[in-house]
Amino acid sequence: MDHAQKRVLVVGAGLYGSVCARELREAGHEVLVIERRDHIGGNCYTRYSADAGCDEHVYGAHVFHTSSERIWHYVNTLAPFAPYTHRAKVNFRGKLFSFPVNLVTLNQIYGVRSPDEARVTLERVRVPIADPRNLEDYCLATVGPEIYRLFIEGYTAKQWNRHPRTLPAEIVKRLPVRTDCNDDYFDDRYQGLPRRGYTALFERLLEGVEVRLETDLMAQRDDLLRGYDLVVCTCPIDAFFGYELGALEYRSLRFDTELVDTSDAQGAAVVHFTDAAVPWVRSIEHKHFLSRRVTGKTLLTRQYPADWKPGSPEFYPVSDERNHALLRRYQELGVARFPHVHFGGRLGEYRHYDMDQVIAAALGFCERVGATYSEAPAVSPSRRTRRARAEGPTSLRRATRASAPVASVDFTPPSCRVPRRKLG
Ligand SMILES: Cc1cc2nc3c(=O)[nH]c(=O)nc-3n(C[C@H](O)[C@H](O)[C@H](O)COP(=O)(O)OP(=O)(O)OC[C@H]3O[C@@H](n4cnc5c(N)ncnc54)[C@H](O)[C@@H]3O)c2cc1C
Repeated sequence: MDHAQKRVLVVGAGLYGSVCARELREAGHEVLVIERRDHIGGNCYTRYSADAGCDEHVYGAHVFHTSSERIWHYVNTLAPFAPYTHRAKVNFRGKLFSFPVNLVTLNQIYGVRSPDEARVTLERVRVPIADPRNLEDYCLATVGPEIYRLFIEGYTAKQWNRHPRTLPAEIVKRLPVRTDCNDDYFDDRYQGLPRRGYTALFERLLEGVEVRLETDLMAQRDDLLRGYDLVVCTCPIDAFFGYELGALEYRSLRFDTELVDTSDAQGAAVVHFTDAAVPWVRSIEHKHFLSRRVTGKTLLTRQYPADWKPGSPEFYPVSDERNHALLRRYQELGVARFPHVHFGGRLGEYRHYDMDQVIAAALGFCERVGATYSEAPAVSPSRRTRRARAEGPTSLRRATRASAPVASVDFTPPSCRVPRRKLG
């Protein structure tokens, strides 16, 4: 592709689409974004609740964390981030546990009081399984039956609607098990939340870009595709093709949000409910992310796993051989029939992406089609995120991801706040 001005259509105003829209526009291309929902931001969308005095994470808790200095610069030059360290709790049959598993958790379960005692105990409770081939075996072999029962078994079965014996161990491998008291959910170097919510970040990304909300590509696909030199498509790849080779599998979610008459309902932003008998997997109390104002009310969201069928929201791709084989066939179809369409993001590529990964992937794509970047000034990590984190004996951390080039931008305060609405 040459670097002359192109007409670019971006399908989806989520993170992948919005980063591409910004960078391709900055590179001089003419960009239109269409979005089927009535708001920008994709699943990162937040809206301010005046009643609760905080931002609501409408599609589930979103905590920004990265080990890439460049990605951290990129988001901070768009919207200032506040330090936030994610500390979740687990509720199992009414009992609260510190999570991810750390010395306090091991004290609650086994009564151990030191890292050495914790290591000895973990060694003792492990089940000797030479070649753990599924999620259950992997957990039994690394942390033993009690931790598996308390934190993994019921939660995973609810989330995926499958027994952990039928799931790959990769799903839990990034959860650390620590023998010190560090209860930070993430191990990344940088962690925080946009001070004015994620929607402010998207407003900056999409500044100067034409965005048409409530516009579904599929209602006019062939007409729209004809008018553009390049289409960045972040809708589900199987939906793009009308499921003609069959549907990929997804897990869906349902969110039930209520305003509660108390100033603090659960004392933490996220509580995981790990017992299979409780139908929701998480309870989110939004004011514990970044409260802007203390009110006598609080906003609570219960997150329920749900089966997916064509038409319901796609939240998690189901990573297995059948789905990956089908994905490859759709990708081949895309190259053969629509060479000017690039499928990107978690639905276009059918893979789980954290926010920093999706930004890096979008920047990488833009660079390949000719968008150029300049370095942003350095931002030092907060004191809390600078603290070195000790590794426990069973930690399997996320690989440090490749950084991507960054754009140089300045900040203009956003204006858009939309009223809270209950999600069904
Ligand atoms: C419950 C949950 C919690 C998460 N928590 C975290 C977290 O704490 N930290 C983290 O780093 N990441 C988290 N993530 C991942 C994060 O949400 C993704 O990395 C990010 O949203 C991916 O952006 P995207 O643009 O690829 O997809 P999306 O955000 O899904 O954007 C795709 C957009 O395309 C639109 N679209 C789809 N089809 C069409 C169509 N036919 N026509 C027009 N528009 C269409 C959709 O409406 C959507 O707005 C979480 C994900 C989930 C599901």
